[in-house]
Amino acid sequence: KCKADHRGALAIFGETLEQALHQRLQIATRLRYALERNELSLSYQPQICLSSGRIIGAEALLRWHNEDRLIPPDTFIPVAESSGSIVPIGAWVLEQACRQQRAWQRDTGQALRMAVNVSVRQLKDPGFIDSLDRIIGQTGMTPGLLELEITESTMMEDHQALIATLQAVRARGVQVAMDDFGTGYSSMKYLQELPIDRLKIDRSFIGHMTESEQDLGLVELMVKMGQLLRLGVIAEGVEHPRENDLLRQLGCDEAQGYLYQKPTHPEHIALLLREQGESPGHRLSGPA
Ligand code: C2E
Ligand code: MG
Ligand code: MG
Ligand code: MG
Repeated sequence: KCKADHRGALAIFGETLEQALHQRLQIATRLRYALERNELSLSYQPQICLSSGRIIGAEALLRWHNEDRLIPPDTFIPVAESSGSIVPIGAWVLEQACRQQRAWQRDTGQALRMAVNVSVRQLKDPGFIDSLDRIIGQTGMTPGLLELEITESTMMEDHQALIATLQAVRARGVQVAMDDFGTGYSSMKYLQELPIDRLKIDRSFIGHMTESEQDLGLVELMVKMGQLLRLGVIAEGVEHPRENDLLRQLGCDEAQGYLYQKPTHPEHIALLLREQGESPGHRLSGPA
């Protein structure tokens, strides 16, 4: 995505390198105050059980409102990772998400699994397990209903230390999912050794599975691989009913995507939970 612009300078996404560096620095500076200025919030996206069509979980997705603008996570998360501010921000996300899960359970009677994205930068922080314990203790979160999502492409660096941290996470009953599965370079051996509970198939495969035999085949393989390794399998980025149907046929356990619900505010999730609580046969994805 880099190209030389007409002045001969290196350009990233149409900006010069200098502009890009300046923007990064500005984001890093503003991010330092984002927490105390209450500029951060969480959106939640339901996770659906494909056989019942019901909401069984939710993923917390971070939102940053800075000076009337919504800055997308793909822009600021990498900056937060390299500046280190992902550590306090990530702890805030984890605590918020756990509180929200408890509130939904209290208000709707439904105990959802709560999925929280965690950067490898956070896992490498020596205080990570202590802060996880503190948050579980203070919020009363059921550890078995908490799931940490870690991106496949970042899971391979320094993997002995990472495995030890993930083992400590799982010793508490907290689950681990491999996010964006299929986009990294993990070997089968590595996958077999990693202490994880779920594979989350990257949305780039799901988006092409209806028109590309190859993508469909790869999704089928990933579902089979999950089954072989006794891992749960969830598909992300499901946008069309046909994808939902194919995934069911392939034996994929769960799905998430715009077809069911875009990321939304917590009150909306509570509403959906009340609806499905009132009708046992309720399906978010329409009739089977
Ligand atoms: P992710 O964890 O893979 O999250 C899925 C992304 O796909 C989200 O983008 C979500 O809004 C989007 N999405 C969901 N369903 C669909 C669909 O059907 N179609 C399409 N086209 N997109 C869909 P979002 O919220 O912009 O987040 C982007 C990434 O930022 C996340 O990818 C995750 O890696 C990172 N992120 C978000 N929140 C956090 C956080 O609290 N901590 C950390 N460390 N990373 C986060
Ligand atoms: Mg995720
Ligand atoms: Mg993903
Ligand atoms: Mg991602």
